[in-house]
Amino acid sequence: MTKRLITNLALLMLMMGSTLLWAKEAKSPDTVERSFPPYFLEHKKYFEPKVYKIGNYPVWSINNTDDWAVNTILIEGDEGLIVYDTGLSRENGTAFMKEIRKLSDKPIVAIFYSHHHPDHYNGTDAMVSLEDVRSGKTKLYAWDNFETGIENEFGATGPSQAIRAGYYIGSLLPKEDNHHHGCCGPKYGGASGYIPPTDTFSEDTDLVIAGVKLRAFLTGGEAASEFGLYLPDYKIAIVADEMFPSVPNLYTLRGAKFRDANGYVRAMFQCVTFSGTTATGWLQKRPGTAT
Ligand SMILES: [Zn+2]
Ligand SMILES: [Zn+2]
Repeated sequence: MTKRLITNLALLMLMMGSTLLWAKEAKSPDTVERSFPPYFLEHKKYFEPKVYKIGNYPVWSINNTDDWAVNTILIEGDEGLIVYDTGLSRENGTAFMKEIRKLSDKPIVAIFYSHHHPDHYNGTDAMVSLEDVRSGKTKLYAWDNFETGIENEFGATGPSQAIRAGYYIGSLLPKEDNHHHGCCGPKYGGASGYIPPTDTFSEDTDLVIAGVKLRAFLTGGEAASEFGLYLPDYKIAIVADEMFPSVPNLYTLRGAKFRDANGYVRAMFQCVTFSGTTATGWLQKRPGTAT
């Protein structure tokens, strides 16, 4: 007994000694020189606020408006506008709307929710009114497992995921210390402006909306409810978080569901089946070509 006590005391003293030594030598984190490899700085350019026109077509990627973390895609038809994703929050949707109104004053007649992750559907009521959705003037499309996806992935664990996300995005850091080199712009938060979908798909579906031909095609990689749009007249494939020039986020720090790497590969193959297409991805940010 005494022997064990002495051993434990000795161990404790050893630990305290090494801790004190460490404390003496450690620098304050505030004085540690930061280092950003050139490829990080290059990658960061993907998230600069900018509007990209895709080819010579009436399709735009509106990226990181007013420093918001995410983007939206706008398609202009003869009789109205089509939007693919509405952003993180009502405030984010309002910022998108400002950019959209610089491009067109036509009404938004359709919104597609690419998948059930919350940075893709919370700006809706800043972009269309609830009355227009209720009257059928604006349709909101999603895959048929969209709402169950929200519940499954964010229901019980939503609050703890939100706290962890707050840590990893550095939400309490001052702007000058808040660097985003991996993904997205610096601005998060705001109120939810979500309106549930009015129409859902259970299989790949061809549509004509505002005179624009569209094919909604399931990708299901980064999220089970994820789908893209193919515009055959423009040979443009639009996808959300499926395609980007970095390592797929197979397991998020916030503790979202594990993602199957094969799903991303499947999604990419799905896109390249549309031969001669220009693909634009949510996280890719700058329109690229995939032929
Ligand atoms: Zn996602
Ligand atoms: Zn996302």
